[in-house]
Amino acid sequence: MRIDLHTHSDRSDGTDHPRDLVAYAHTVGIDVLAITDHDTTVGWADALQAAAGAGIGLVPGIEISCEHRGMGMHLLAYLPDPTYEPLRAELRRVLDGRASRLPATLELLRDLGIDITPADVHAAAGPAEATGRPHVADAMIAKGIVANRDQAFARYLSAGRPAYVQRYAADLVSMIGVVADAGGVTVLAHPWARRGPSAVDSDALAALRDHGLIGLEADHQGHDPQMRAALHGIAADLGLIATGSSDYHGSGKLDCNLGCNTTAPDQFDRLLDAARAAAAKAGRGAEAAL
Ligand code: AMP
Ligand code: FE
Ligand code: FE
Ligand code: ZN
Repeated sequence: MRIDLHTHSDRSDGTDHPRDLVAYAHTVGIDVLAITDHDTTVGWADALQAAAGAGIGLVPGIEISCEHRGMGMHLLAYLPDPTYEPLRAELRRVLDGRASRLPATLELLRDLGIDITPADVHAAAGPAEATGRPHVADAMIAKGIVANRDQAFARYLSAGRPAYVQRYAADLVSMIGVVADAGGVTVLAHPWARRGPSAVDSDALAALRDHGLIGLEADHQGHDPQMRAALHGIAADLGLIATGSSDYHGSGKLDCNLGCNTTAPDQFDRLLDAARAAAAKAGRGAEAAL
């Protein structure tokens, strides 16, 4: 049983159509796949339809851009009712923040002598609902300014680099509650990937659990073996579910092919049980809505 609970399609910054993402998952022997585009659910319908045809399990999810104690964090939301208005409103705010950041980013690039237009970025973004820095990077690649996304981030787009612009992100604790009210469950994505263990320690994770977080993503390409082991230990101590996933982005990100990390079936069963309980309590959820 191979379960991959964090992947992106071209509706955000992945490169595969949701249908192709599911077909590829089937090809490489994934039994259960979650589609978790950044801040949008627009890929769900195509992915669900393709999964039904291919006979694999599809967990509809979202990777939500959040902020906690002044730090950006990504929250994986599984099986929420996508029509729940408070959730929709907050995702809209985040998507608006992505759109309004773009002109500021392009202006900073122009100051550096790099001419990328909004049309260049929109051409690179194609069908994406959630546009972001990876699409700016793709536009720069198309113009021969950088060789790949990594280079664009390292030179220009990462925090601290000259074309970085902050954008709106949802409050993490509030969002954990909104997803629960939508009948879904939340797992903290790659908790230590960018800033290491100091970003969110065991006490902080315990506090988030008390706010309703049900799990953390322990096995992720951004975590070394020691971090993975430590996160599994913390999850066990705190009664949190520990997941593993690829964070696949198609050809947009290297070294994270589908199934490179997977979630243990017993952990997935706990996630589904928690989602059922959340849906019963909220009186709504993805299953009822879809
Ligand atoms: P944004 O959504 O605009 O804040 O950009 C963040 C996204 O960029 C993340 O979801 C990552 O998938 C992607 N990303 C971050 N660093 C890199 C990198 N070095 N190479 C490729 N993609 C990256
Ligand atoms: Fe991404
Ligand atoms: Fe992420
Ligand atoms: Zn991701």
